[in-house]
Amino acid sequence: MKVISTIQEIQYHIRSLHDISKLGFIPTMGYLHQGHLSLIESSKRTCDYSVVSIFVNPAQFGPNEDYNSYPRDMSKDLNMLESIGVDVVFTPTLQDMYPAHYRTYTEVSGLSEVLCGASRPGHFRGVATIVQKLVNIVKPTHMFMGLKDYQQVVVLETMLRDLNMSCKIVRCPIVRERDGLALSSRNNYLSEEERQRAICLHQAIMRTKQAYHAGETDCNKLINIAEKIITQQNGQIDYIQIVSPHDLLSIAIATDDSRIMLAVKIGKTRLIDNDCLCC
Ligand code: AMP
Repeated sequence: MKVISTIQEIQYHIRSLHDISKLGFIPTMGYLHQGHLSLIESSKRTCDYSVVSIFVNPAQFGPNEDYNSYPRDMSKDLNMLESIGVDVVFTPTLQDMYPAHYRTYTEVSGLSEVLCGASRPGHFRGVATIVQKLVNIVKPTHMFMGLKDYQQVVVLETMLRDLNMSCKIVRCPIVRERDGLALSSRNNYLSEEERQRAICLHQAIMRTKQAYHAGETDCNKLINIAEKIITQQNGQIDYIQIVSPHDLLSIAIATDDSRIMLAVKIGKTRLIDNDCLCC
C-alpha cells in the first residue's frame, strides 16, 4: 500500500497507472470504522484500483464545532487500510489543501441550507469544496459514499452533475452496531450511559416506519412518534423531518420514497441518522 501526502506525487502516481478503466475513490476524515471499510470493500469489488483519502477538513466545521477535538489516529487507520488491501492512501496536509490566500469555494444552493445545513451554516460549502478539490486531484471514475450522510450524498451528486464532472457516486448502505446505532467516528464521544440512550435514533426510525407500513401517512403524526421516542431518552432534537429524497424538502403526506431524517444531541454529541420510510 502506498501512502502519499503531496498533491504533486498523487497526481504523478495516478497518471502513471495503466489499464485502469474504473478508479474508485473513498474520501474520509479518518478514525476509520466498519462503515468506512464497507465503502472500501465496495470499491474493491467494483473498481480496478482504490484510493482512500484521510483529511480532517476544517472548512466543513463551524467556529464552535469539534475540528480540534475530532478523533484522529493515523497509524491505526493505515494499519486497517493495509489489512484490507487498499492500493493508495492520500493524506494531504492542511497547507497543501488550503494554502495562504485560498479563496475559492463550491456552493450547492437550495440543498445545503436545509436539515444539517440549517444548524451547521457553511458545512456543505466546506464539504463540496473539499470533495471537488479531491476529485480534481484524484480523477476517480467512481466515488463511494455512505447513506449515513444522506444529505451529503444528494449535495455531492448535484455538484458532480451541475459541474459536468465525470465521476459517479456509488451509494453505500449504512453500517450499524448490533443494536442499530449507526457507526460514526463521533460515537467515540459518548459515555457508556449515553451510548445506551443513543439507540433511540434507530428506534425512532423503526417505529416511524412501522406506523407508515400500518397505513399512517400524515407526516406530523409520524414525526410525533419519532419525537416521543427521542425525548423519552432525553435526546435533544435538532430536527426530525420527513422529506422528499431528491430536493430534501419537508412534505406533509408520506410516500414510499420519502425519507425520515434525524439529528439529535445525546449529551453533547450530535448524531444523525436516516432511512427510507418504505424499504
Ligand atoms: P467521514 O469520515 O465521517 O467523513 O465519512 C467518510 C465516508 O464514510 C462518508 O461517505 C460517510 O457517509 C461514510 N460513513 C460514515 N459512517 C458510515 C456508516 N455507519 N455506514 C456507511 N457509511 C458510513
